Amino acid sequence: FREEDVAGYALVIAATHDEAVNRTVAAAARARHIPVNVVDQPALCSFIMPSIVERAPIIVAVSSGGASPVLARLLRTRLESLIPTGYGRLAALAAACRAQVKARFRPAERRRFWERVLQGPIAELVFSGRDDEARKALQEALGDTRLAFSGGEVSLIGAGPGDPDLLTFRALRLMQQADVVVYDRLVSQPVLDLVRLDAERIYAGKERARHSLPQEDINHLLIRLAREGKRVVRLKGGDPFIFGRGGEEIATLAAEGIPFQVVPGITAATGCASYAGIPLTHRDYSQSVVFVTGHLRDGSMNLNWPVLAQPRQTVVIYMGLVGIDTLCRQLVAHGLPAATPAALIQQGTTPQQRVLTGDLDTLPEVVRRGNVVAPTLIIIGEVVRLRDQL
Ligand code: SAH
Repeated sequence: FREEDVAGYALVIAATHDEAVNRTVAAAARARHIPVNVVDQPALCSFIMPSIVERAPIIVAVSSGGASPVLARLLRTRLESLIPTGYGRLAALAAACRAQVKARFRPAERRRFWERVLQGPIAELVFSGRDDEARKALQEALGDTRLAFSGGEVSLIGAGPGDPDLLTFRALRLMQQADVVVYDRLVSQPVLDLVRLDAERIYAGKERARHSLPQEDINHLLIRLAREGKRVVRLKGGDPFIFGRGGEEIATLAAEGIPFQVVPGITAATGCASYAGIPLTHRDYSQSVVFVTGHLRDGSMNLNWPVLAQPRQTVVIYMGLVGIDTLCRQLVAHGLPAATPAALIQQGTTPQQRVLTGDLDTLPEVVRRGNVVAPTLIIIGEVVRLRDQL
């Protein structure tokens, strides 16, 4: 390397294993006011190359100043998950109306306007890919002197089976923007703790045969809160569309013209299966999986037994604890071997998770002796055998 080598360049990077050479390169570049980066020697650098999160035109750069590039990368990964992929499109939408907004509002109003647009329903439209609707809503908001677009909306969110790590990014984002959260008994405390601190919390829990708030009242509560202009989060255990009455709640919202969205969650079956080491399907043991509710109706379970008692199939029963005797007996009566393995998972995915195993013959007794606490999920099928190994 000769000092003149750097002449005429706009940027220099030194990446040799020879510290003396690196130092000479850095000095030569600096002398000519050329930006220089020396790999792994931050003291010799006039600029560094940070990890970036790109949501063009938005760019976030993370740097540890050379102290720990891996730490910077880990932080970058966290930011990646925090910043919706739609941020770029949101920025583009904002850019398209900036002049219009500037002409329309005084500075203080302008900031409030943008804050509402960029973290409210309009932003959510962009994140869910409905850019055209977002553009229209933004235009409407611009024309509305009362800023009526800040009208409320409801997010029906699947909170998963208990472990807060199983929430989706979208669920977390909406929970952190909520004005009020209406939650069920099955929503775990660690999940609730992630809701925005100042959000009002309303318990609408449901227990078997003891509904704290009748479904009708919950529907009307959601409508009233949204009409008050609030960002309402309706949190349900697991997935809202699996034994969660999600369909009924949004039907009422749709009928009343309240904007809403549904955020899926990890349902108890997949959460419990993973955390208990029971694959729900397996090429050697099971080609299909059925989710059923074992909710008793007048002491009898009106399930389609012949369909459930099929070979090479996994049956997952929600709300099956009370009817576990009937359940096991009927499956045997309809042709499943009494030795078919079965498991009961209590409080799956939480630190209190317990798994009791047996077969169709023995499981009811195992459960009776087991001091079981709700909620519980039952999994029946050959795949349960894999648990010991997995
Ligand atoms: N929408 C929920 C299910 C609601 S029905 C979902 O998708 O998971 C309520 C039943 O779900 C409970 O009776 C129980 O059978 C099951 N369940 C929910 N969370 C559970 C958990 N953490 N562990 C075991 N079973 C659970």
